[in-house]
Amino acid sequence: MIDFTLVPDIERRLSPAAKRRPQRAHTTQLTIHRWGSDDIGFGHDDLEAFFLGDPEGVATVTISGPYRGKLHRINTWRRVGVPDDYKARAFVPYHLSIADDGSVAQWLPWLARGAHDRYSNRRAIANAVLGDFRDRAPSSAQLHSLRDLMKWMMWDHDFKRFARIDQGVLYVRGHDEELVNHHESPKGCPGDLLPYAEIAEWAQGAANIIDQGFNRF
Ligand SMILES: [Zn+2]
Repeated sequence: MIDFTLVPDIERRLSPAAKRRPQRAHTTQLTIHRWGSDDIGFGHDDLEAFFLGDPEGVATVTISGPYRGKLHRINTWRRVGVPDDYKARAFVPYHLSIADDGSVAQWLPWLARGAHDRYSNRRAIANAVLGDFRDRAPSSAQLHSLRDLMKWMMWDHDFKRFARIDQGVLYVRGHDEELVNHHESPKGCPGDLLPYAEIAEWAQGAANIIDQGFNRF
């Protein structure tokens, strides 16, 4: 018997700017990130507050180019506040976040182009797992939600239609894998303690069952 959860419980928290994002033409990958720190927190609310209100978070998603080019403006904003027009353009750059308690929030429409990894933004959906997996493991609730999400993304007909997954193939990669493939230094994202290879296996397992013609209806 196949252990399959139907549509996961996803809380939609799309900002106005998120709804105006350009669209991807194709989806061939799911990129996994870690997000959060002891200073800024590890909750969905902390994620939202950072990208929609914190000078560094707003600069990350509203100003293009490398980080060092944004530093002057970030420092200015720390003194005088983030201008309203920048706040209005800010959005959370991941499609999904998965918190320690296993809850899942959606921040971008499925077809929207994210701003999480310049190498895969045009073809990937981004999952941010909330936690620092360089020094601690994800919770079992978090892993459970990730597994259900992988299966659902692979199986759900509507999801595939909305996400326009190419030929049913969805590769799962950690952010560092993209960086290293492009000769950049890894950032410890998602971190060694997040078993993203195992997560990719869950996705592959679901995809294989589809290939074998299993029909859940
Ligand atoms: Zn990352």
